[in-house]
Amino acid sequence: MTISDETLALCELSNDLLFHKIPQESYSYYVKGALEAGRLAAKKYLEKDIKELYKRNNMTITYCEQDNIYCGVRLRAQVSMGKTETTVSVYTKSLDEFASFSSFEQAAPITYETALDMHLCHEFFHFLEYQEIGFVSEKLEPVETIKLPFFTRKAHINRCSEVAAHAFAKEMLGLRHLPNMYDYIYLMNTSKMTRENFDKMIKAFSIKG
Ligand SMILES: [Zn+2]
Repeated sequence: MTISDETLALCELSNDLLFHKIPQESYSYYVKGALEAGRLAAKKYLEKDIKELYKRNNMTITYCEQDNIYCGVRLRAQVSMGKTETTVSVYTKSLDEFASFSSFEQAAPITYETALDMHLCHEFFHFLEYQEIGFVSEKLEPVETIKLPFFTRKAHINRCSEVAAHAFAKEMLGLRHLPNMYDYIYLMNTSKMTRENFDKMIKAFSIKG
């Protein structure tokens, strides 16, 4: 079963605090805009080794054996961006577990290396947003959060940057799925999400490519 990037992107957007403010007819605008921004940014770096790109951009990778639990979520990678240096911390145990539970419908699981590169590419994209291309979420139109006759408040959909980072990693590594699919696979394989609920979510967020 292959699930389209558009549908998986909408699943990601549905985690945004302001998702309910997006009019349904605008779903494809955000999904397509964000996916396209990630794919476009990847064009420049295709065939390049992600670890080399880190070196060339003065980015440090720190491998941590200890888990880092933030708000009840076990982190796999975390970026900290400063003016002169960027550090990406990688939580190896959590990443290793993520890779070992990544088999879906008889397909072989991804390797630890692929899982690592996927996370490195994702954070590299955020670095690019910060340094070079600007934040994708800010480039796409804001949604109206409050609308009164004489007063409107607008806000950006932050998760658009996540969708773009997923698309960047998929393109760079030639992955089978948009990377957030591996999160769902992990959740299903570790009994934290039922297949039934996964199927329901996919059906609810199905969007034409
Ligand atoms: Zn991210």
